[in-house]
Amino acid sequence: MTDAELDRLAEIIARALLERPAVADATGRAATWLPTPVRPAPPARGAEPPSWSGAAQDLGDVAPSRDRDWSPRFRAATADLTRATRAAAAGKGPPAERSARAPERRLTRQRPATAPSIDVRVGVSNRHVHLSEADARTLFGSAPLGVSRSLTQPGQFAATETVAVRGPKGTLESVRVVGPARTETQLEIALSDAAALGVAPPVAASGSLGDSIGGVALVGPAGRIELRRGVIVAARHLHLSPADSKRWGLRDGDRLDVRCGVGARAATLHDVLVRSGEGHATELHLDSDEARALGVTTGDSATVIAWRAAGPAKRPLITERDVVRLAREGARIPANAILTPSARDRASALGILDR
Ligand SMILES: [Zn+2]
Repeated sequence: MTDAELDRLAEIIARALLERPAVADATGRAATWLPTPVRPAPPARGAEPPSWSGAAQDLGDVAPSRDRDWSPRFRAATADLTRATRAAAAGKGPPAERSARAPERRLTRQRPATAPSIDVRVGVSNRHVHLSEADARTLFGSAPLGVSRSLTQPGQFAATETVAVRGPKGTLESVRVVGPARTETQLEIALSDAAALGVAPPVAASGSLGDSIGGVALVGPAGRIELRRGVIVAARHLHLSPADSKRWGLRDGDRLDVRCGVGARAATLHDVLVRSGEGHATELHLDSDEARALGVTTGDSATVIAWRAAGPAKRPLITERDVVRLAREGARIPANAILTPSARDRASALGILDR
């Protein structure tokens, strides 16, 4: 075949492609022979960058830590950073940590000096365990838990029963059981307790056991339980009665700055979580480490000085792929959406960007 013949053949093929009539695809839209440009799919394990990025490499070999179980507490995992960044970009994450240089003014409202002060009672929580009914039976047999004394939160009581908690490094004797039974066993300890046991639980809101850890055993007179999860350091929180919630305009999920203590150890605690609703009595719960550091004890008073409303506004993040999908479904792009630059281009090309 000569060069001239090759050119001629190329021309015939090109003309045939151009003249080929548009056919409707399954969605009813006219399809051309040109494939829709598609971005490479994100890695299957969504939270982690692809291995070729280098970011997912373990730094342990270049910066070895003597105690590998503990080191992650001081260095955020790459996957966590990626997750947090994506969530923040989509307006879904918790507010980013504020640097000391740029305090967050927009979301935190300082209470005016003339406003009546909000004083709350402090309740110090020592280490304790909530048990599921099955676990209570395993540890103590079938008799119901005995009531030692009732607690401030309605219906809750310190039981007469205690358990020993055994960790890899040490044991905590006589850890109080708090009743009534819950759906899942939860061990709440202070960070100093965690150090004594040799475990590193996360700080988490009571009942949020997604990140909780196990690795300790509960030992009672009738039996023993190896916990695979349920161990947390309880996040500081303010229980709020429905009446006080209404009176002060604070809602479940709000975050507060609360000034605690008097004298040299007085300090303001940030990010105090509001837990409100039926069955809550107003009381600021701190753990024994926090209380000792601030020099406060149960019955002391603390003052709410600033608050931040629950949850940032949720704005969906729309990618180019989402735009194609929405266009195919005949759906609109949500008015509050954040669009990536390529999504914006694609949306205006498809004529579905009305902003
Ligand atoms: Zn509490």
